[in-house]
Amino acid sequence: MSILTSLGGSPPIPFNTLEITSELQSEIEEFNRDGWVGDTLLRRAKSKFLNVTLMDKMTRIQSPLMQSYQDTYFCSHQITVTDNKAKSCFCKKRWCIICNRIRTAQLIQAYMPTLDTWVQKTFLTLTIKNVPKEKLKGSLSEMYKTFSLIKDIERKRGFKLVGIRKLECTYNRQSDEYHPHYHIILNNSDRSEIIINEWLERFQTADRKGQDFRPADKDSCFELFKYFTKLSSNSKKDNTITVNALDNIFQSITGVRTFQPFGFIANKLEPPPENITLGEQSFDIQEYQYNTKQNDWINPNTGEFLTNYEINQNEKSFKYRIR
Ligand SMILES: [Zn+2]
Repeated sequence: MSILTSLGGSPPIPFNTLEITSELQSEIEEFNRDGWVGDTLLRRAKSKFLNVTLMDKMTRIQSPLMQSYQDTYFCSHQITVTDNKAKSCFCKKRWCIICNRIRTAQLIQAYMPTLDTWVQKTFLTLTIKNVPKEKLKGSLSEMYKTFSLIKDIERKRGFKLVGIRKLECTYNRQSDEYHPHYHIILNNSDRSEIIINEWLERFQTADRKGQDFRPADKDSCFELFKYFTKLSSNSKKDNTITVNALDNIFQSITGVRTFQPFGFIANKLEPPPENITLGEQSFDIQEYQYNTKQNDWINPNTGEFLTNYEINQNEKSFKYRIR
């Protein structure tokens, strides 16, 4: 029995830390390209289902992050609807599917206006040789130092690098190795080749073919703002989600910056949802509690479902992909 089952499914989150979200309003909707950002309650229901399914497994393994995975299990477990606003508590963990969608929308708001002004946007990929789990944390720190060093070298040569750097990491189940890499959007392509050469000089075992630069389009920019790690293996044939590998990745990024702009200042980040206290309000507040059997939030007083979300075949199979 997992610890979550033994807790009877009630969230260990005090009610007065509820936060405002905007899913009943439409201000984030303009970022809804193909359903992965727009923050409606239906999409929240889908993310919630995936989160609960994955975290149910993650909390069963021995990990120092167990408590944090549990927080993610309970992310947005309760939704309070007042007028046209839904309020919820968020775990703010990097692996949380719900929180990452909110974060993605915030990053797009903060950075996309600047990226739109870069006419020669370039998408640069820097990789190192795949590493076993013992070397993952050390490699991430090497990569960070090396990229900082290259920026320094370039600055001394009179070139100020401007861009956004994002760390990603995938897992190869066949070789049981990890593939950490940087995706970088630069404001132009001028120094791309030089950067790659400097990188290869310091990572001599890295494959030249793994390094790449090409013009960046809108899609590659959006890609940069998405989650830190793909949940499943990199291979198209293998969509298995390996919880132990994910746990190793999540442990190794503790304290590591996964997203960093350099050489420019972004628009101010939208403030995170504001903390409010519900103590004094008494008018028309509807509370809904997430039910893992119905995959929806239910009002315990009326039995009413909040979203009437139905999981599709693909989502149903998600559970069986997790090992
Ligand atoms: Zn969360």
